[in-house]
Amino acid sequence: MAGFFVGCVLVMLGMVPLVSADSLDSRENLNATLWMQTAHEYAFSTAQVYGVATRALAEARNFDSALIDTDASEAAPDAPPAIILDLDETVLNTSRYAAGLIGNGQRHTEAAWDTWVASSTMDVAPADPVPGALAFLHAARAQGYRIFYVTNRACPDAGRRASYPHPACPQRDATVALAKRVGLPFADDPAVFLFRNDQDGWEGGDKTPRRRFLAGANKVVLLFGDDLGDFLPRAEVNALRAQRPPDRLVGVEGAPSWLARFGRQWFLLPNPSYGSWEVALAACEASDKDSQACYEERLRAKYRRLIPPLLVPLAAPPAAPTPPG
Ligand SMILES: [Mg+2]
Repeated sequence: MAGFFVGCVLVMLGMVPLVSADSLDSRENLNATLWMQTAHEYAFSTAQVYGVATRALAEARNFDSALIDTDASEAAPDAPPAIILDLDETVLNTSRYAAGLIGNGQRHTEAAWDTWVASSTMDVAPADPVPGALAFLHAARAQGYRIFYVTNRACPDAGRRASYPHPACPQRDATVALAKRVGLPFADDPAVFLFRNDQDGWEGGDKTPRRRFLAGANKVVLLFGDDLGDFLPRAEVNALRAQRPPDRLVGVEGAPSWLARFGRQWFLLPNPSYGSWEVALAACEASDKDSQACYEERLRAKYRRLIPPLLVPLAAPPAAPTPPG
């Protein structure tokens, strides 16, 4: 009865359509979004990451390249020290987008995301900086580091040239406006933002070509992201997810040597809401990835990926010793 009452209140407030399959779909992201918006644990986690990174700035300019791409060109010895960061859920908390979907009983689509990104040109900023990010970025600039934002926000496929920036990219315009509003360092310089499709060869979401491009003229010593793709080539991420679950990687023999970079040169931000981890759980072969059929196929596949409870009883604890006499 209480649930029915709450539902009626939400419907009266216009927050939840009375009958809609999508209103159920959107609730999947409820806890993850609330965690990012209300849990002190989230803000303290990101502040912790950026705090460790801030302390690393004193020595980081002396580090070797943070890239593990074997084809990345070697920067000149006098190249300026540089930092590459992803934007969404690394520097910008976009959970208000997810909250809007939940409140309206919708799920993510490319069209909805495009509309939301465009709202950055309005008077109210639709995203806040991730806690700790701004202080770190300003400390890095003050200590002479160059800063680049490599994002999978996208320019149109058509019209790009051999060299970035793309001449007509609405998401770029909106993102730069947002970056200026929230006070990101170097936001006035369009060259610090590297978008998907920004130039020939940068189509697709693999950030490897953009990292290599930057490594040609900069000594890239720190990487920041909320997704393994912010650190590793996509093929390596896919192979990793297909071969070994995460608990078979940490602290075991034969673990990748790059794991030791986390906390020193690679800094990983929490994102429970979405990412390539989720895409890897379930695929849909249909051409319309936003279709209801595709969504339901992925949902069924996700449920099959849950790790079930153990079906054997736990061993009984050892009996307490009998007290003497
Ligand atoms: Mg991200």
